[in-house]
Amino acid sequence: MNLSSQDEAVELTSELIRIDTTNTGEAATTVGERAAAEYVLGKLEEVGYETTYVESGAPGRGNVFARLPGADPGRGALLVHGHLDVVPADPTEWSVHPFSGAVQDGYIWGRGAVDMKDMVGMTLATARRFKRDGVVPPRDLVFAFLADEEAGGAFGSQWLVENRPDLFDGVTEAVGEVGGFSVTLGEDLRAYTIEIAEKGIAWMRLRVRGRAGHGSMLHDDNAVTKLAAAVARLGEHEFPIVLTDSVRAFLSSVTSITGMEFDEDDLPGAVAKLGPFSRVVGATLRDTANPTMLSAGYKANVIPSVAEAVVDCRVLPGRQEAFERELDEILGPDVEREWVTHLPAVETTFDGDLVDAMTAAVQAEDPGARTIPYVLSGGTDAKAIHSLGIRCFGFAPLRLPPDLDFTALFHGVDERVPVDAVRFGTRVLDRFLRTC
Ligand SMILES: [Zn+2]
Repeated sequence: MNLSSQDEAVELTSELIRIDTTNTGEAATTVGERAAAEYVLGKLEEVGYETTYVESGAPGRGNVFARLPGADPGRGALLVHGHLDVVPADPTEWSVHPFSGAVQDGYIWGRGAVDMKDMVGMTLATARRFKRDGVVPPRDLVFAFLADEEAGGAFGSQWLVENRPDLFDGVTEAVGEVGGFSVTLGEDLRAYTIEIAEKGIAWMRLRVRGRAGHGSMLHDDNAVTKLAAAVARLGEHEFPIVLTDSVRAFLSSVTSITGMEFDEDDLPGAVAKLGPFSRVVGATLRDTANPTMLSAGYKANVIPSVAEAVVDCRVLPGRQEAFERELDEILGPDVEREWVTHLPAVETTFDGDLVDAMTAAVQAEDPGARTIPYVLSGGTDAKAIHSLGIRCFGFAPLRLPPDLDFTALFHGVDERVPVDAVRFGTRVLDRFLRTC
């Protein structure tokens, strides 16, 4: 069944990758979102959708919305969302050009292949098929293709929920990234992750003030020295393990599928047995604070009066206050701190008809597979969408080969997605959206 939309999803993913939508976080060097939005808009209108094009807060920050009416207008609508922007890529590091969209060796290659032009291609192919074939889904579907996810959504989802909440009218639930991909837990035994929670994003600027002076002299109030010490203390600090309900749900699902036990006395050790996916899961056991930027000084022999750092903090649901208390203890009184980006954690539960529909769609295409809830250590547009009272899940289905280190491909060099996975995902999405 459904051959044409599977082929189309592969083609659309490749073509979307060829539209460079690099988002650097700076207006001057962020490109391509309008072109990608216009491409999506054209594909939707071609089959008869009415579309809405909105620029979110600045010229070129293009977003596209389209609705497909369902059989029961009394039910809340389901939002299917994806972002059109990607993080930068340096072509000199890649085996193929990151904006080539090359389809070779069984993969679609390029920046955005897994984050997340694959899901955009799958969604677009499914939306087009439904329109062409006159499919009436059980409830209204709202398709949204968004700008600026990779810089936190201030010029995308955050702007849209604040300024154009009407575009989300009637929406009660949403699916987007990051979930739906399979993790191989045993011989031919796959668990498909469904994201039910995200840690909070808290990007923090640290500032230390000292006394300026000559680099050749004795000096006991050096801002660089003090900042460096504080940054090192924080970077080496391990925040306590806190098992949230969602992480507990993940661990007990894995135990019920595999029999694997997670010894609460050595959770990081137990989680490490999950392979590469443990990089994500391990980060959901505790808050983290990774220093990422440093800046100070302007001349080798001048001690500057100010030194600054940026730290990428990720905070578990319900931990913000305790996290801040711990921060202040580690940093000490000489370090000023401020949040440059602060988006709260989000969390829902792994139950209900929508979860059942995701599970049934996966199992119809991969008999014997299971679905498991998990917590994303990063953040997505779900943060903004959740603020409208919408229940958010990460579900972009992909059946992956057991040896592929999938999580390393996000923002990675040689980002690529298996062609078969995109074809599989399109079949699952088609089933899911007919039964949601
Ligand atoms: Zn993404």
